[in-house]
Amino acid sequence: MANQDDQFKKVISHAKEYGYIFPSSEIYDGLSAVYDYAQNGVELKKNIREYWWKAMVQMHDNIVGIDASIFMHPTTWKASGHVDAFNDPLIDNKDSKKRYRADVLVEDHVAKIEAKINKEIAKAQKRFGDAFDKEQFVNTNPRVVKYNEQAQAILKRLGQSLEKEDLADVKALIEELEIVDPETGSKNWTDVKQFNLMFGTKLGASADSAMDLYLRPETAQGIFVNFLNVQKTGRLKIPFGIAQTGKAFRNEIVARQFIFRMREFEQMEMQFFIKPGTQIEWYDYWKETRLKWHLSLGMGEDNYRFHDHEKLAHYADAASDIEFKFPFGFKELEGIHSRTDFDLSQHEQFSNKKLQYFDPEENKSYVPYVLETSIGLDRMFLAVFSNSLQEEELENGSTRTVLKLPAVLAPTKVAILPLVKKDGLPEVAKKIFEDLKWDFNVAYDEKDAVGRRYRRQDAAGTPFCVTVDHDTLEDNTVTIRHRDTMEQKRVKIEELQEIVKKEVDVRYWLMKTK
Ligand code: ATP
Repeated sequence: MANQDDQFKKVISHAKEYGYIFPSSEIYDGLSAVYDYAQNGVELKKNIREYWWKAMVQMHDNIVGIDASIFMHPTTWKASGHVDAFNDPLIDNKDSKKRYRADVLVEDHVAKIEAKINKEIAKAQKRFGDAFDKEQFVNTNPRVVKYNEQAQAILKRLGQSLEKEDLADVKALIEELEIVDPETGSKNWTDVKQFNLMFGTKLGASADSAMDLYLRPETAQGIFVNFLNVQKTGRLKIPFGIAQTGKAFRNEIVARQFIFRMREFEQMEMQFFIKPGTQIEWYDYWKETRLKWHLSLGMGEDNYRFHDHEKLAHYADAASDIEFKFPFGFKELEGIHSRTDFDLSQHEQFSNKKLQYFDPEENKSYVPYVLETSIGLDRMFLAVFSNSLQEEELENGSTRTVLKLPAVLAPTKVAILPLVKKDGLPEVAKKIFEDLKWDFNVAYDEKDAVGRRYRRQDAAGTPFCVTVDHDTLEDNTVTIRHRDTMEQKRVKIEELQEIVKKEVDVRYWLMKTK
């Protein structure tokens, strides 16, 4: 655990030191769970958004994008169920006066049981060596079987109680499991209550004519209310999708873990409109397609898993999360939800407008079903950043800190370094810099010894360094160094653009899982 905490602290301080993420309004001591993307962070975030947009919109003939407003007519949120049901179950500790999400307390308890299971597995693996059969061990070791049963039973009961809105049972569960306040160890809990997560605000100047508004808690509703406009003007035929990226706001209770859970964050969502009855087929399709997108970035298959929901949201008939192994364990990164016709039907009812699709093949109109893929851009940023930050032992015994960002996402693609600051080398280096700028974000660095400059670029995540030396003046060749392998190659200046382009190209990366 201490190790995980240390790694996470490193991620946060590296993000600040290398200009990726700053605490918001830091000169006023920051604002809790609000962060600003800095000069490198904004580029990485933009590249992740683009990688998603290209895969989802550009590469799918039947998916188009929109950009709806953050403010929406307030009835939207009555229809969507957010006014009545967008709540978290909260519990207060009477001694510490701290507030927690009741379901998170129980889930953290289960995570501790899972940690015990993993410890047993690691111990056995050591004991049995190569002969170790993990599956057999998990299924037969009495202690592990017991832990697994406990964990399943707790999650099942939590799911059922939340589903039935039986908050008294959630409290009973917390008491039976003897869960304590993580900060003080106190067991003196209040009852569990529901708390609405939407931020309210007002539209208009005078107090009596002002209209109550909400900051959108998800981008999805902007797609649903535009469904018919887009379908008609785009002459789209089912199945088709509408994608959108943008800010969403939630008054989260437990906003911690850096940019994992923020009160202002960005979503990348796609709603796929389908014929009723085909939802399971599309649910499977989108689960697979979205996982492939993640895998294309090469961040390790073992770092992902699906978590199918026991407790379904009021609108869903099937739901699964793609979980990622963050520095603090496996957590939700993306949700894939079969939303049925819930949203469109609700908007029909509240707006008194027909939101139906005329299916020429069936010769009838119906309210389409919807399959949603929804991923947090900031969470994806954290997944990429934390997974990329590595410390390596080198052959000469020294260590290097390297940010192995997938090259397609890296903020700066190449750094140009004159070996020394004289003999005309800076002039040649600057010429290369000016030329490559047309295609990529390029850095120029002439300070310090070249070894230190390499380290600086490694830590900033730049995939290529190009060094201009005295031979360059003779034969127009330079050294190109790869961040991950540290391999160096001599190439012609005019080849640089092609070499870099090939490895930072979206096509090259997305094709990997085709
Ligand atoms: P969680 O269970 O972690 O609160 P959720 O199930 O409420 O998430 P969804 O409503 O399905 O999340 O939203 C889709 C995606 O938006 C999530 O998978 C996550 O990546 C992202 N997301 C949700 N809430 C936040 C937040 N407060 N900060 C950052 N990203 C978020």
